[in-house]
Amino acid sequence: MTQPILQVRGLCKHYKGIKAVDGIDMTLRQGDIYGFLGQNGAGKTTAIRMMMGLIQPTAGTVELLGERIGKGRNEVLRKVGSVIEYPGFYPNLTAYENLDIHRKMMGIQGKDSLEDALQTTGLWEARNRRAAQFSLGMKQRLGIARAILHAPELLILDEPTNGLDPMGIKEIRLLIQELAQKRNITILVSSHILSEVEQLATKVGIIHRGIMLEETQMQALKDRNRHYISLQVDQQEKSRNLLVNEMGIRDCRVEENGWLRVYDEGLMPGEMNRMLVREGILVNSLSAVKDSLEDYFVRLVEGGAVRA
Ligand code: ATP
Repeated sequence: MTQPILQVRGLCKHYKGIKAVDGIDMTLRQGDIYGFLGQNGAGKTTAIRMMMGLIQPTAGTVELLGERIGKGRNEVLRKVGSVIEYPGFYPNLTAYENLDIHRKMMGIQGKDSLEDALQTTGLWEARNRRAAQFSLGMKQRLGIARAILHAPELLILDEPTNGLDPMGIKEIRLLIQELAQKRNITILVSSHILSEVEQLATKVGIIHRGIMLEETQMQALKDRNRHYISLQVDQQEKSRNLLVNEMGIRDCRVEENGWLRVYDEGLMPGEMNRMLVREGILVNSLSAVKDSLEDYFVRLVEGGAVRA
């Protein structure tokens, strides 16, 4: 396998009494859109700051394109673009002028990349407006335009959709996908919203209280989510007993308002329905469901909370 773009091993950041990041491992390979998922305060920003060499780890290592990030100047960081928390701009300068200052600072010749970045992020029409007049969504896109100006191989975006409305969220999602597909940029995007990550990421790392609970390909995560049968009946306890005793079901969970959830493998909903009706049960609803990622995430985080 080719060398990872980003390799994090045993990364820790401990503050007095707080293990903000506590021994995480992460691997990003070329072409990944890596969803770095965790609730507020889980440790995402702290981990990202260490990846960018902005703060020093208490322990562990970060390797970018095979080079270890250390104290001082890290040349390899020139191959990374990032937007960490809310991007700041000179409010009285236009979008174009803001980017141009950055272009000069980065020593980028010519204005092609600047104009290209404005086009890609959908800000070309707004290029002569002052940054102060930009909406939050536009500022995020301007932040991304600035981060891609030097054609990075890796783009790190810390909660880029925080505070945006559904339209703004969609625009950012489409932009990230375009950058990954058309420009071949490997992307790490953090979020606390599972549904966002689910629609976007090819790989996901779930962090909770500084600990990486799971790192997996998105498809594997989706495939792994369990099927179950959800039914609503008029006699809940009797139905449960029948399912367990008559059909040999092992995992039948009682929920509120007459709902039951049956998790056993290879279930036949039709048979289940026939048996219950034969026994005088009124079955109001019966359907086969796949556990949502949301359910899975909650289960995982609850388990993690116990472990942590
Ligand atoms: P959010 O989305 O809310 O920013 P996050 O997942 O990015 O959450 P971090 O900002 O990395 O989380 O914070 C992780 C934990 O570390 C939090 O409990 C936070 O209060 C703590 N923390 C972060 N920076 C410091 C610091 N400089 N000193 C002390 N504690 C800190």
